Amino acid sequence: MSAADLVQFLSQALYALVFVAVLVGAIQRPRRVAWDVAAFFGAITLIVAETWVFEAAGVKPPLAVNDAAGVLLLGLPYILLRLLDDFGQCASWILRLAEVVLGLAILGLVATGPNVPGWMAGVMILYFVALTAFCAVSFFMSALAAKSFNRRRRLAVACGIALLAAALAVDGVATATDASTASDLSLVSEVLSFATGIAFLMGFAPPRWLRQAWQAPELEAFLRQTVSFASTEDDTAVVTNLEQQASTALGVGQVWVGLWDDAQGALHYATDGALVLPEKEAQALITAADAAATPTLARQAYEEQRTVFAGDVAKADPDHAGRYRAYGIRTLMAAPVTAAGRPIGVMVAAASQALLFAEDNLRMLTLLADQTAMVLHTRSLLRETASAKARYELDELKDQFLSAAAHDLKTPLTSIRGLAQMIQRRLTRENIDPQTIDREASLIVESTARMASLVDELLDVSRMEAKQGFELRPSVADIVAIVRRSIDQRARMAPNHEVVLDATQPELSGFWDAERLERVFINLIDNAIKYSPAGGIVNVIVRPEDRHGVAGVYAAVSDHGIGIPAADLPRIFERFQRAGNASGSKIQGTGIGLSYVRNIVEQHGGVVAASSREGEGATFSLWLPQQPDGLGAA
Ligand code: ADP
Repeated sequence: MSAADLVQFLSQALYALVFVAVLVGAIQRPRRVAWDVAAFFGAITLIVAETWVFEAAGVKPPLAVNDAAGVLLLGLPYILLRLLDDFGQCASWILRLAEVVLGLAILGLVATGPNVPGWMAGVMILYFVALTAFCAVSFFMSALAAKSFNRRRRLAVACGIALLAAALAVDGVATATDASTASDLSLVSEVLSFATGIAFLMGFAPPRWLRQAWQAPELEAFLRQTVSFASTEDDTAVVTNLEQQASTALGVGQVWVGLWDDAQGALHYATDGALVLPEKEAQALITAADAAATPTLARQAYEEQRTVFAGDVAKADPDHAGRYRAYGIRTLMAAPVTAAGRPIGVMVAAASQALLFAEDNLRMLTLLADQTAMVLHTRSLLRETASAKARYELDELKDQFLSAAAHDLKTPLTSIRGLAQMIQRRLTRENIDPQTIDREASLIVESTARMASLVDELLDVSRMEAKQGFELRPSVADIVAIVRRSIDQRARMAPNHEVVLDATQPELSGFWDAERLERVFINLIDNAIKYSPAGGIVNVIVRPEDRHGVAGVYAAVSDHGIGIPAADLPRIFERFQRAGNASGSKIQGTGIGLSYVRNIVEQHGGVVAASSREGEGATFSLWLPQQPDGLGAA
């Protein structure tokens, strides 16, 4: 066996192998494009088989068989044209013209008998080479339009076609040369045929490792991208992103993710497809299709939990054909998106042309749908965990709040009871000192006032929270007097602290809710005392200050206590927020005082601020307009 014979045998074996592979594919998923491919390799295999049979028998093939082989050979470029047509890459007049030329060539072949004139053989070879070269170029273009593994496989097919044209061209030249050149050229042609077989094998029936290697880069990119989706806030953004990534990974057409909406009993899609028909016509088609009682292919995939492939979607789902037409969809695939046995939705891929490699596309779509399910499932788990954690934290906060509120109310209650018992005992004695009793009774009144103020603050907070029933009661008031009253009330209860007032003016009047502002200062002074457990000086400043041309007052309360860690400072005015060093220590607190302060000051049209260095103390300041907008003086 010569080298040329060996190469010829190998390439013929390759063609037969590819034929078996594509035939199995066509039987598994019958579609025009699959049959066209099977017909192409079937024709080649028949020609090869014919040569083998007659060579083995050692006889010359009869004329009819030779003619049949010739017809099959001439039919090859025509089948390639049909393939191009499947991809929407061949104008129909070219197809018709090729049919006419093919018919004429067949007639010529049959009419001329065993001795085909040289010029006719030349024309036929030219026809074959030109058409095949045209198909190769068109295939290259269709490959460039696709992406991912679809592009790689189409490029392999395009190479195969180009090599086939080259092999035939070399053969043609060989027939017109002398014997020794012809034998050299025939070896070149055989090598080209072999390369053709390899390229077709890679394109149409790639081995498993190659198939996976060609899918790997896009799949990896998809996986890498989806990692970040688990923690992205916006649901719709995640789904749209998944769709885009999946579409890139597939490399043909568009991808949608439909999520099952229990309330509507339907699949919900985040993105709309692009219409290929005029808006009005498309809408009419879509409305008519939506009225159909049968489920769409995507819905079938979701309900039956299986992948769906429709090479010709209008035929596979005629009830919704109008919808597919409006979006220019010819091929449709759908795979269920299911996580931990729970159906979540469906991933749909649509292309405007035929898909050559159905199995690979479906396999990729299934992988992408599984990964999408995992992302969505992880997100819902994270959400559940977060809401369970929030519920737990809220419960904790409520407990802390209740115990701190009970503690705050119990302190004055205890002193009320002690004082009342003392008065009782004094009254049983003979020499009653009315002055002492009066002093103790005043302390009782003061303590009840403190309790009432605490209860009022709680009521205010709950009304503000409910956003109803809360209203400022402003009147002309002197802020220096308000601050003084607050200091008087609190300083007496804190023997280790000295509260120093620095007011630049003896009186500073404005239009304010005096009772609420008093509670604001009581909160700030209480905190200054409470959070400087070692005692010390608490400074209170009050002075007039205009801001942006608006007359107002500035006030600040500073201490030298435990301070607030920098990380807690930005959120310290939020409800239930307690700094780490406060909640970790034994200092009780409800965490609502500062939010009350901010609320009341802001309702007056003012602003609050806090500055602190942990371990060195804190300063809380506020600014109030003298005449708050919208609180017109009565
Ligand atoms: P609480 O009832 O816990 O005192 P507040 O709303 O009044 O609630 O204060 C919120 C948190 O701000 C406190 O828990 C504490 O961590 C911090 N804080 C408030 N005032 C001071 C201060 N003067 N010094 C240090 N930390 C303070």
